[in-house]
Parts: sequence; structure tokens; C-alpha cells
Amino acid sequence: MNLSYRNPSLLNLYYRLPKFAREVFAALYSLKARNRRFGKAFHDQMRLLQENEKLPRAERDRRQVSDLKATLRYAYEHVPYYRSLFDQSGFRADALESLADLRKIPVLERETVRSKNAELHSTAFTGPKFSHRTSGTTGTTLGFTLSEEANQRHYGCVWHHYGWVGMRRGDRLATFGGHPLAHPDRQKPPFWLYDAVENELYFSVQHISPKNAPYYIEQLLRFKPVVVRGIPSFLNLIAQYMIDGGVTYKPRGVFTYSETLLDRQRRALEQAFECTAYNFYSNGERTGHVLQCGHGRLHVLTETGVIEILRADGSPAAAGEVGELVMTNMINRAMPLIRYRIGDTGILAREEQCPCGRETPILESLTGRTNDFVVTEDGRRIRPVGVFMGTPMVKAAQFVQEQAGSVVVKIVPREGFGADDRRKVAEEMDAELGHSIRYQIEIVDELPFGANGKLQHIISKIPS
Ligand SMILES: [Zn+2]
Repeated sequence: MNLSYRNPSLLNLYYRLPKFAREVFAALYSLKARNRRFGKAFHDQMRLLQENEKLPRAERDRRQVSDLKATLRYAYEHVPYYRSLFDQSGFRADALESLADLRKIPVLERETVRSKNAELHSTAFTGPKFSHRTSGTTGTTLGFTLSEEANQRHYGCVWHHYGWVGMRRGDRLATFGGHPLAHPDRQKPPFWLYDAVENELYFSVQHISPKNAPYYIEQLLRFKPVVVRGIPSFLNLIAQYMIDGGVTYKPRGVFTYSETLLDRQRRALEQAFECTAYNFYSNGERTGHVLQCGHGRLHVLTETGVIEILRADGSPAAAGEVGELVMTNMINRAMPLIRYRIGDTGILAREEQCPCGRETPILESLTGRTNDFVVTEDGRRIRPVGVFMGTPMVKAAQFVQEQAGSVVVKIVPREGFGADDRRKVAEEMDAELGHSIRYQIEIVDELPFGANGKLQHIISKIPS
């Protein structure tokens, strides 16, 4: 279940439906999404990852280089952008012998994906595909095309991970994601929606507050999920309320995604849920997958892509040294992204052996999005993921919050940004935040960089 953010008026209509109708809607949507997620490639991927679990490292590396070579050859033959790039830089896919040879290809920036979007599409791909948008850490959105196969393989990675705790599809799953489930101004439960097709209970993350927390906890205990998953900053809130109320509940595992799982959040999750918290890293572009095991190590899947960690000068960072993630996608033939700078940072582990026996590259840490929410007057934390989704004329944006209940939205416009675009942003703000936050839109020429040299999507002066 995942309702589109791109149509605020449809969203408002949906919010007004009675609970039963919304559940029917969720089930129908889920049936439709099933084809995009759980078809043949999903099962193929699950099988592949299962077979490869105990693959010796040398064999794993050999297969990755071979898959990479096939991807690069395909890109040269069928993707106009790469044909001219490889020709200009003298790169030949057939000459690739190791992952290090990949560095002969220039890094792909998000801005290039935007400006040369059409040239990055394969001219030969005829399979099922769909267009997709991601929100970057800078608040801008990026459109790209995803093959259904890549999407299914992505979900194969997700469910392979859940399989590490014995979770199977159809088992009860509780999700605290960014799904718009109830009107932001809603004051009474339900703040959740049950999807009968997937046996999944979706909780709204925008309504968690001191007043509403007991309803959430009661519903969670009643549902008895086998796995609890969600965005760590929101799961952490629930965990805090559980700890304060002296409540625990023990699923087989807690899985987090979409944001960095901070150590203090992990401790709270593991205390409230009395089990291990597993971090999962991927992105909307599906350019790579990192799965945390029960020993706390971050295993990089070599079946879906290549993850490089680079210094500012483009040279590879040493183990233990922080660098930028540059990712190559090996599963999306509709639009292969090669050496794509995703905007996140990571550190390669010094120690590559893990007691779990999986011989993959291991990351010591991974830093993506953190602390991404604004706070309403009544203490709810909202992550405004849907804002700017339908406004490509916004070049960069930032929420600045000095006090709960009000926020300044700073926008760097692209050339041609007009009154219509401004109205669209306002509509998106209303659909996502309701009347819980006063906001003011400010058009600016540029945004200040954070201490880490990156743009922050949300700058909050409110302690988390
Ligand atoms: Zn491990």
C-alpha cells in the first residue's frame, strides 16, 4: 500500500472515506502493487540470495565482476549517454578485469540524471517499467525509470533480509513508514490501516504524540506482528513511549530503513522490542543493498550492484575512513545508473570476517538521512516526504524550524518557477501537514551547507 503523494486533492478525498472503504482501497492497491513487487523476478532473487548465502568471497567477487561487465556492455550498446561517455573517455567494457577498472568511468551526478534523463534510458528495453521519483537529501526530487524486474529484485532483497529471522510473506507485519493514511488534522484513532492482502498493518507516523501513543501501543499489542519495520526516528518514538509506560513487545525482529539507524535509537528499539534491530539500506533508485546481520555487521549485497566509497578527490577511501557512496546498479536495465553519487556517506570495515559466515564486503557504518522531521504544536513529528514530489521546478529546498508549530520553507527555484509552482508547493504542504503547522515560503538564491558539507533537508532548533 502506498498512495501517491502527487495528487493532493485525491489524497484529501481518500482521507474522507470511511475506514472500511479505505481498507478496501488498500487491499485493491496492494493487489495491483503485487505485480510490481512479488512476481517471478522477486522469487528468482530470493532463490539467488539464498543459494549465495555461503558463497566463498573469491567466487562472489568473480560473479560480481562478471555481472558488472554485462551491465557495462549493455549500457554501452543501448544507452546513448554511456555510449558517448565511454567513447569520450576511452573506456571499454570488455577490458574490465576488476572493480578497480570501474574508476575509469566518471562519476554520475544527480543533476546530470535530471538534465540528461532521456539519454540515460535504454533504447532496447521493452519490458514492463514505470517512472519513479525519489526525494534526495537536499529536498529536491529526481525522476527516473525503474524496470519491474529491478523493483521485484529489490523486494527480493528486502524479504531475504526478513527471512534471516524466519519471517515469511503472509506473516503479520507492522509498518511505520511514510504512508499517508489519515488526514493530518485527525484527532481520534484509527491512526492505522490494515491491508488484508499482505496481512500488514500500516501505522501513520504523523500522528504519534503523547496523547495518541497509548492507542498506537494498544493496537500494536493487539495485532502481534511477527516483524515490526519502519523509519527509525518514528519507531524510536514508539519505543520511547513503550519504555516510559513500562510496556514491551517481542517480535522476531525490528527492521529499519530510509534513515540512518542511530546507536541511541537502536538501544531504545532493542529495549522496547526485546529483539535485535536490523538496519536495511537501499534507495529509490535501487542502486545497492546493505543488510545488517544479527552480529551487527552491514553486509553489502554483491548481486544487485557495486558500492564504492570515495574520498573528495575521487580516490578510494581506505577501510575505516569516511567517504562518499558511489553506486552502480546492475539490476535496472531500463535505466542503468553507473557510478552514481547518491549523496550518502559510509565507511568500509577494517575487519571483513563476520561470525554469521556471510562472506560479503562489510561496511563499518553508513550515514544517510537523519533526524528528518518537523514538530507540530501538539508534539507530533512529521517527515514531510511528499512535499516537492510534484514540483520539479524546485531546485533545492530546506525546512527551517525554530519552534514547534511553525516552519520556514526555503526554496531555490529553477528558472521559470512561477505562481503555479508556488501554489503547488502550498497544496503539498497542506496535504501533508494539515493545519498543524504554520508555514512561510521564502524564495532564496542558495542554501547554506551544513557542517558536513552537505545540504540539510531540515534544520531544526528543537531538541530531538
Ligand atoms: Zn554477519
